Amino acid sequence: MDLTTRLHLLNLIRLSASAESTCRAAERAEHRARLRRKEAAAACRQHRLVVHTGPGCDLDDAVKALADAESTYETRAAQVETAAIRWRRAFSASERADARLGEELARTWTLTRAGQPRRKGTRLAAEVALLSELAAMPMELIRAASALLVQSSAGKDSVVALARVVRWAKAAGCLDKVVVVHADIGQDAEWPGVRDLARQQAERYGLRFVVVKAPVGFLGMVEKRGMWPDAQNRLCTSTLKRDEAAKFFTQIVEELGLDEQALLVNCLGIRAEESPSRRRKPELAIDHRASNGRRLVLTWHPVLHLSERDIWQEIADNALDYHPVYDSLIPRLSCIFCILAPFDVLARAVRLCWVLGLETPKTYVDLEDRLGHRFKNKFSLAEVVAEASRLEAAEGPITWRRGDAIRHHLGEEAATAYLQRLVLAA
Ligand code: SF4
Repeated sequence: MDLTTRLHLLNLIRLSASAESTCRAAERAEHRARLRRKEAAAACRQHRLVVHTGPGCDLDDAVKALADAESTYETRAAQVETAAIRWRRAFSASERADARLGEELARTWTLTRAGQPRRKGTRLAAEVALLSELAAMPMELIRAASALLVQSSAGKDSVVALARVVRWAKAAGCLDKVVVVHADIGQDAEWPGVRDLARQQAERYGLRFVVVKAPVGFLGMVEKRGMWPDAQNRLCTSTLKRDEAAKFFTQIVEELGLDEQALLVNCLGIRAEESPSRRRKPELAIDHRASNGRRLVLTWHPVLHLSERDIWQEIADNALDYHPVYDSLIPRLSCIFCILAPFDVLARAVRLCWVLGLETPKTYVDLEDRLGHRFKNKFSLAEVVAEASRLEAAEGPITWRRGDAIRHHLGEEAATAYLQRLVLAA
């Protein structure tokens, strides 16, 4: 099966999934409309009882209240009719999308011989199989893409993901398709120099660099909500990064000005070993939320199966520039205080802020105090700062040397070679 057919099938899968979810939403809306009609009918019965049994209140008032309740019932009944029509239409659209997908799968793909393609399980199986086939042919995928977007936090995983995408794009003769996208989450929440480093990492390959930024940054968002996000409600990622990136998808599709649906390959530097939810992610996935008739968005994870050591090895081997924060042995970049970071990493971040003269710990603790909501369920940031003070008194300020991150992960020899490569590359 050629790549065009694979992409065509993936788009039909997307349409079928989207039609199914519209159908489900319409079904839920119809159910809610029925419940509201039922409540209106109960209210009518109650008012009729009042009018007919005369409980001693003003009859005119009771009659008027009954008329109002009956009018509400009429409105609710009409809403049920409308909702039922929408549901029937959505159901038919979903059936048609499934049927079209089924026919195409049956025509082009052997999987359908074993089962009914119209069943959701088979659609998912087809999606998984097609995507894993595509992930195994990165060159073809890159050639077929209208644009390759690399979402870069400037962190270690992002810089390796970028280096890999650049290597493959160069080999495919498509380097001009690569755009580096950096989400700015607010200078008061990030380590200094993050945005500049992301820019330099893109400039190294002569790539276009785009910064996306929500109107309100991380701290503004927390202040507005009156609470910190958490692992279950990662609004920081969805609002400050994902939603802003999606706006850029619209912009780039307009810039491309294609007559056909654009294929956007959106590359993220996440790794399976970082968390159980990331372990479950495939290497390539359809971004159902961001795709539409004008664009099919595939999310690609080019470093998904690399270990932390592998990442540092690629950084060392290719003399990739990384943020000095890693040399102080803080394992992740981006927010100074990440809601997902463990207690000891946060305490180290507080101590690093003190060395760098940053006000961030005080800003966060003041905000925590004002909100009356702890930074994390298990502990407050005030407790983290207290522990950092205790460590500081016992050990003195933290120190580091350039190359310590590589020294820590790969040894002294690798660090020395890396620093020499950096000098030569400068
Ligand atoms: S680094 Fe952590 S706190 Fe910052 S946006 Fe990402 S998940 Fe949220």
